[in-house]
Amino acid sequence: MLVLGIESSCDETGIALYDSEQGLLAHALYSQIELHALYGGVVPELASRDHIRRLIPLIQSTLKEAKRQISELDGIAYTAGPGLIGALLTGASVARSLAFALKIPAVGVHHMEGHLLAPMLESEQPQFPFICLLVSGGHSMIIRVDGIGRYKLLGDTLDDAAGEAFDKTAKLLDLGYPGGPKVSQLALSGRAERYKFPRPMVDRPGLDMSFSGLKTYTLNTWQQALKEDQATEQTKADICRAFEMAVADTLTIKCKRALEQEGLNRLVVSGGVSANREIREKLHALMNKRHGEVFFPRLEFCTDNGAMIAYAGTQRLLAGEEQDLNFAATPRWSLEALAPLEF
Ligand code: ATP
Ligand code: MG
Ligand code: FE
Repeated sequence: MLVLGIESSCDETGIALYDSEQGLLAHALYSQIELHALYGGVVPELASRDHIRRLIPLIQSTLKEAKRQISELDGIAYTAGPGLIGALLTGASVARSLAFALKIPAVGVHHMEGHLLAPMLESEQPQFPFICLLVSGGHSMIIRVDGIGRYKLLGDTLDDAAGEAFDKTAKLLDLGYPGGPKVSQLALSGRAERYKFPRPMVDRPGLDMSFSGLKTYTLNTWQQALKEDQATEQTKADICRAFEMAVADTLTIKCKRALEQEGLNRLVVSGGVSANREIREKLHALMNKRHGEVFFPRLEFCTDNGAMIAYAGTQRLLAGEEQDLNFAATPRWSLEALAPLEF
């Protein structure tokens, strides 16, 4: 089965061709980062308009790269939510129209299920059940996964998502957008001993997380440095290092707790923040120590992409799922509301 995947939930237009026998054939991504950089964050209306411009040319170039004709498609998978309604609708409309014209099924994919299953695009795939740490720009969740569509939310953030905390920290330090890669880059030259940031909510039982306090801690530390005439690049780097270590430690402690609670020893980490080097290292170390397994998507599939949507959609299409023409987009949508996949 040859499936076209379309991702357009936020500020990235992602297209991919996935073959259920041969795997990923081609993929392309157009990032609108520069378009939104001027505003320090994503402007929804500009995002929708840019998706309209990019979708068709990207679909054409991806088909060409894979040396496939549009008539060879067996199905279409598109991100139906959660995300920005206008951005979602552009992808959904293109997907639905194409499916209607080609007389093939289309399926709306949950964006977070796409992220969650992204490690399945690699040759070594995790077996079910596992614990998934899903950390992205809009979500921080710890999920027990017993199969595709069988998700139990064990922990969530009470305020900011992990990626959001990275983005806000970068903004406070005037590092630009998106913040994750910038904070992480600067942290490389930061000294670990200079500042010690708190590890939020680790002394309380449970798997919920909170990251907004860390952002405040960054703000206070930076303001103190300004007062003391210490507002240097080195200070910024030291803050980034302390911030990153605090997030990485907190996530590691929560993952360990989740594995113990559920009696599992397999961890999957996905979403944009799973690209973070420090977090990857700490989680690798945790799983080595436990003699367990840990899986990450390749770096380019941590953040938004069409491949993860094509993969998740293919699984649902193989199981016979498809939606009627009315189905469009769902800006708010819980992972736990998804139907378990049954063949
Ligand atoms: P959601 O998937 O929750 O709807 P999103 O699609 O905006 O949100 P992703 O594309 O998965 O999120 O990830 C983007 C986020 O990942 C941003 O917040 C970004 O700062 C963060 N990020 C990207 N690379 C890194 C990194 N190396 N370290 C930390 N954070 C990172
Ligand atoms: Mg993005
Ligand atoms: Fe995402």
